Amino acid sequence: MRPDTPAAHITEAERLLRTAAQYPGDREPLYLRAAAHLELAGDRPGATALYDELLSSEPADPHLIRALKAANLWEYGHEAEARAIIEGLRVARPSDAAPWEIAAETLEAHDELEEAEATLTQAARLLLVSPDDLPHATRSLITTRHRVRRMLALPHDDWDALADRLHTGAVPLDELHDPKRLWSLGSEDPAELQAEIARLRSELGTYRTALSRPFPVAVLHWPERELDELLAAYPELEAEYPTYTAHLTDIEASLRELAQAGTPNLGIVRATVPSYEAFAASESTHPSNADLLPQYATTLAARARATAWPPARGAECWCGSGETYGKCHGDAVTLR
Ligand SMILES: [Zn+2]
Ligand SMILES: [Zn+2]
Repeated sequence: MRPDTPAAHITEAERLLRTAAQYPGDREPLYLRAAAHLELAGDRPGATALYDELLSSEPADPHLIRALKAANLWEYGHEAEARAIIEGLRVARPSDAAPWEIAAETLEAHDELEEAEATLTQAARLLLVSPDDLPHATRSLITTRHRVRRMLALPHDDWDALADRLHTGAVPLDELHDPKRLWSLGSEDPAELQAEIARLRSELGTYRTALSRPFPVAVLHWPERELDELLAAYPELEAEYPTYTAHLTDIEASLRELAQAGTPNLGIVRATVPSYEAFAASESTHPSNADLLPQYATTLAARARATAWPPARGAECWCGSGETYGKCHGDAVTLR
């Protein structure tokens, strides 16, 4: 992990913008990620400029970009413009959950809880047609809706119950989202309570940031032929990848570990030797440098090259064996 400082975020944004110049076809996901880093560095006008540049050139996902732009604008004093963009999104009714969720979380972040709830309910009505096999973004949306409704002390409805059922974290959702959790501390001191509320808010804030960014955390998969070629060219990397079978087992194990730790939005990116060599060259280093591997994975994910993990029920395994996931790497017994 790189240090979480403004300077580190600026450096990362610059690296992503350089990659965008190299791969113009992947400009949109790379710009979105660069903008996220600029926001984290506090350069909000810089992030707005990237959103505007994308919006002016027929982007693939204009709703998502507008939602991110609204969230960013509201953070530096452009509330009216942000509200107008969110209104526009609600009228446009995007068919993907991410822009809805970002718009609602923006309202929530500025204490417009009723408006946030109304936005999430409108989205749920539109998107939750079949509650089986919901995409990650839709599951995330009903989790956010559950949180906002808990803050408003609304009774559970069917979608809240579904959010509870889908939640896999160690702490049950009702506890995680319980505003009354504060009272169980038994404190009568208003200052202490205020401090606790602030702490809880920042905790939710971190959770929110993790959820609203549509970028997957991705693990590298080298297809067998690529791995053979890689190790023949750079035998120094054999320590990372003793055998192809072990490589596959490692991928599944690390993803399960990340999922258990509550990391949302996981994915797998397919590595190839030529693209890895090009990446090493762009970073002015040698491909045998194993430190480069996680950065290469991040860059592929930033270029929207990740396939979501776990595969949908009954779908083929991510490893390419042709078996269903449940009979291949998704088999609970294979790892334990
Ligand atoms: Zn619940
Ligand atoms: Zn498999």
